[in-house]
Parts: sequence; structure tokens; C-alpha cells
Amino acid sequence: MSRKMAIESEKKNIIELSRNQLASWLSDQGVKCYRAGQVLNWIYLRQADTFEVMSDLSKDIRNLLSRHFTIQRLKKTGLEISLDGSRKYLFGLEDGNVVETVLIPEKNHYTLCISSQVGCAQGCVFCLSARGGFIRNLTKGEMVSQVRDIKNDLDRSMPLTNIVFMGMGEPLANYKNVVSAIEVLTDSEFGLQFSSRRLTISTSGLISGLSDLGRDTQVNLAVSLNATENKTRDMLMPINRKYPIEQLLEACRRYPLKPRLRITIEYILISGINDTSDDGKRLVKLLRPIQSKINLIPFNEFEGCDFKRPEEKAIHNFQKILHDNNLTAVIRYSKGRDISAACGQLHANFKRSASLG
Ligand code: SAH
Repeated sequence: MSRKMAIESEKKNIIELSRNQLASWLSDQGVKCYRAGQVLNWIYLRQADTFEVMSDLSKDIRNLLSRHFTIQRLKKTGLEISLDGSRKYLFGLEDGNVVETVLIPEKNHYTLCISSQVGCAQGCVFCLSARGGFIRNLTKGEMVSQVRDIKNDLDRSMPLTNIVFMGMGEPLANYKNVVSAIEVLTDSEFGLQFSSRRLTISTSGLISGLSDLGRDTQVNLAVSLNATENKTRDMLMPINRKYPIEQLLEACRRYPLKPRLRITIEYILISGINDTSDDGKRLVKLLRPIQSKINLIPFNEFEGCDFKRPEEKAIHNFQKILHDNNLTAVIRYSKGRDISAACGQLHANFKRSASLG
């Protein structure tokens, strides 16, 4: 490694710092701390790639920052575009790992599905992301950059307004970094200016993280329930052996919801496993005490998993049971299935990044 490169690699990625950390670093260097806001403004609102362009800062401050920090982007190692318009980005990380992020066009806005970990430790048997096991947590900067970098790619014709933590990983198992990322995403002054009401964290049901999330943020909550009996959920989602359905739903009931907001309950429909009319009736009973709406996700099949997606008729019958009992239930056909960008199909893959360079 050349000397210049060695020094470059010692610099810290400024995207990993919070506003307070940057302000206190600047003040240690004798720079007024309000300058932190100006720097972050350039990075998040004006998408600056260098400190040199920050024209409202003195040359001395710009040089100081360039000597100590980089403003990094993730390395785009691949992009696949689905027939339905969804785009799956493959991002290469510093250590050679790869994460996937999916941009989904809706009627008049985009939704971005971001990853919170490389791999996943939850071991849900219906999920391809779980197959490779857990590799590591994403840093706050790696999560924020998925959003910042893709926002930079979009033209003004349609805004990116919604972010869902439904990509690879279990967000509540990476709690600290996820909450720090949410802080930047929702900072309306110096961050990416998303409304917390348009951010959704999806969890397999880590109860401790759930109550913390309600205390620390105002984001929407989605809970992957996927079964109505513990024996089925134990089999599908190992986390259920630690936090069974009753405890999970009690935690949902206690979740501090803003008025008129509801928890999203995700329910994958798998043929012969959790899609019977008895399941439908049990689901009605379970969800009665909870302010909720239900997303029914027909199972996305993948090689190496014997589960089957139910027939259309069974899916609609299941939805009807919920509707007849005054529950809101929407069938969500995952987008991007032809490019493996659908729910539960994101997959960390070292080799792919290596082959794409
Ligand atoms: N760990 C978090 C977020 C990632 S999974 C969670 O469990 O919620 C995001 C969603 O995809 C979850 O609702 C999960 O149940 C769903 N999912 C996973 N694999 C799937 C598959 N093969 N078909 C349909 N949905 C799937």
C-alpha cells in the first residue's frame, strides 16, 4: 500500500459521525460547533462528495476536514431492474461484504427497502436471507448511505418518501446503529429530512428492542407474525421459542402508538402451513386487542425450500375472513420477484461482489 493510500485509509468516514460528535470534534479543533450543521447540510441536502465544494466554510476548515475525514459512498457493484420497475442495488462494503437495497416505484413516490445487517441470525425457515447465517451488523453510516446514495441517483420526477427496514437482517438486533441511522434520516434540519411517519421498522419480534423503539423513536412498526399458534411459529421462526405469540402481541399492545396509527402485522401465507380458515379465525381473535392492519404476503418460493405459495383462491378466502371480522388486510404481492428482490429473497453473497469487481 502506498503511503498516500495508507493515510487515506486512516481517515474516518464522516457519515459515521452524529451531529453532536462532529460538533464536539470541531470545537476540540477550535472551530465553532455550529459549523457542523453547515457540513452536514452539504453532505445530506446537497449531496456533496468533497469538502472543497463547501463554499460557505473557510479554506482552513475545509482543509482540516479533508485531512481527517472522507465522505464515502457505497460501492455500487450491481444493479438489476425488474419487469415491474423495482431496482435491486448491490452495494459493496469496505470489508468486501455485499448488501442489497431495493427501490420500489409506487404510484407517485418511491419506497426504499434497506438492509440492517449482512446476513441474519434469526434463522426463519421461509427466508432466504437467513440461509447464509449472520455475518455482521451494518454500521449507522452503511444504512444511511443506502438512502443517501440512491437519493442522489434519482431525478426530480418522483420523490423518495418512504423507507422500510425490511431488507436483509433483523433491525432490532442491531438496535443502536439502527436508531442512530433513524436520527439522521429524520433530522429535518441537517439530515435527510424524512418524516418518521414514513419510516417503518420490521421485526421478527425481539420484544426488548420493541419497547425501546417505542421509547426512542416515532417510526412505524411492522411485526412479522406469520402464524397463529406457537407450535407453527416455533417451527417457522426460532425467535418464537424465546418470545412466544402471547408475549409478542402483549408487547405490540403496549407499543406507544400515536393517535390513528396502527401496527402493521405481516403474515406470510404458506400453503398448508398457516393458511387455513382456522388460522384466519385465530388471527382475528389474536389481533382484536391491537390497533393493527395486516399485510398478507403470499410466500415467495425459492430453490431449496419446499414451502409453496397458496392458490389465489385460498389467499382471497383468508383475506375475506379478516375483512368479515372488520380487520384491514391487504394482499401484498412482493415486487421484484423476477430479480430476487422480493421479501425475504435478499441474500448476502461474497462471490458476486468479487466477480463484479
Ligand atoms: N427481520 C425483519 C425484517 C426482514 S424480513 C422481519 O422479520 O420482519 C422482511 C419481511 O419479509 C418479513 O415480514 C418476512 O416475514 C418476509 N419474508 C421473508 N421471507 C419471505 C418469503 N420467502 N416470502 C414472503 N415473505 C417473506
